[in-house]
Amino acid sequence: MASKDQKGPGRIFLSPPHLSGEELEYVRRAFASNYIAPLGPQVDAFERALCETTGLAHAAALSSGTAAMHLGLRLLGVGPGDLVLASTLTFIGSVSPIRFLGADPVFVDSDQETWNMDPGLLAQALKTLDREGRRPKAVVPTDLYGQSADYERLLTACRPYGVPVLADSAEALGATYMGGHAGSRARAMVLSFNGNKIITTSGGGALVSSDKALVDEARSLAQQARDPGPHYEHSTIGYNYRLSNVLAAVGLGQIRALDQRVDKKRRIFKYYQQALAGLPGVGFMPEAGYGRCNRWLSVILLDQQAFGAGPDQVRLALEAENIEARPVWKPMHLQPVFRGCRVFGGAVAEDLFNRGLCLPSGTALTEEDMERVAGTIRECSRTNV
Ligand SMILES: *Cc1c(COP(=O)(O)O)cnc(C)c1O
Repeated sequence: MASKDQKGPGRIFLSPPHLSGEELEYVRRAFASNYIAPLGPQVDAFERALCETTGLAHAAALSSGTAAMHLGLRLLGVGPGDLVLASTLTFIGSVSPIRFLGADPVFVDSDQETWNMDPGLLAQALKTLDREGRRPKAVVPTDLYGQSADYERLLTACRPYGVPVLADSAEALGATYMGGHAGSRARAMVLSFNGNKIITTSGGGALVSSDKALVDEARSLAQQARDPGPHYEHSTIGYNYRLSNVLAAVGLGQIRALDQRVDKKRRIFKYYQQALAGLPGVGFMPEAGYGRCNRWLSVILLDQQAFGAGPDQVRLALEAENIEARPVWKPMHLQPVFRGCRVFGGAVAEDLFNRGLCLPSGTALTEEDMERVAGTIRECSRTNV
C-alpha cells in the first residue's frame, strides 16, 4: 500500500505532474542569466526540442494550448461567421477559440475504432456543407487521450475542398502516426503543457508547423503584433501569449523524460488491461494499427448490465478510496454553451461518454497504487458479489 498516515493511504490523482529532477537546474540557469522574461535562451531551446520531438521545423512556445489554437485558427483565416469543423469528443480548449474569433463550430462524431474524428463522416459533412454553398475555414481533429487521429484519411477528405487541418495534439505529445509524430501531417499542430499533460511547464502550449511564415506570424501575434522598428508601431491587434522563459526552463527538464513517460503511460494501461480483462462488461480504449498511442489517460468502458456497476458508481467507489477518476470528455454538441450548433453524427461520442471512465494515469504511479485502483474496480464487479 502507498504511504499510510492517520488519514489512510495517500490520494491517487488522475494525471499529476511528474518532475524529472532536472527542472531546477534549467530554472537556475534561467535565473543566472537573468532571462526572467517571455523570451530568452530557454524558450529558444525548448522550441528546438519541440521541433526535434515532432519532426517539424518550426515551433512557437506559448502560454497555453488554448492560446496556440486561437493563433492557429486566426492564421488560417478564421473570422466572424466562418465555420470550423471540430471533433465533438474533446476538451473545451480545443474549440472555445473558434468562438473567440466569432466563428461557428460544426461538430463531427468519433469512430468506434479510434475514438477520434470519423474520416467518413468528415467527408459527408464537407459534402453536405459544399452543397449548401458553405466552405469551412478549417478542420480541427483532436488526438484523443494520446491517440493520433487518422490524418491521411482526414486530409484526403479535405483535399477536394482545399480546407486546411489544424491538429489538436494537446494530449498526444510523443504519440506516433505512420512513423511520424501524431498531428505532424496537418498544416500546424497544437500542443499543451498544462499541469495534467504528459509533460508540463505548469501552464503552457505551442504551435508547431513546417510552415515558417505561419510560426513567425504566430510568434509576432503572441507578442502584441509589434511591427519592426525602434518605437512601438502596430498595424494589427495581437495578444500577450508568449511562454515565460522560466517556464520554458521547466519544459526543458520535462521533455528529456518524454520517452520514459510514454513507456510508463503504456505500462499503466497494460497493467489495468491485465488486471481487469477477465471481468465481464469491461472494455478498453482501442489502439489504432497506424500508430503508437502515448496512453496519456487509461480509459475503460463499463457495461452496467454485464459488469454490475456503471462508470459513475465505479468513480464514486474509487473516490471513497481516495482515488481520482473522471468521466470521458462530455461531447461538445451536448454542452449548454454550444446548444444549437450543428453536429454530424454524435451517437458514438455520447456512448463513450456514458460508458467511459478515465483511470489514474500519473507516470509516478507505483505497482501498489495501480493495484489499489484495480482492486477497487474489481470489488464493484457483479462477479465479486
Ligand atoms: C489540454 C487540452 C487543450 C488546452 O490546453 P491548455 O494548455 O490547457 O490551454 C486543448 N485541447 C485538448 C484536447 C486538451 O486536452
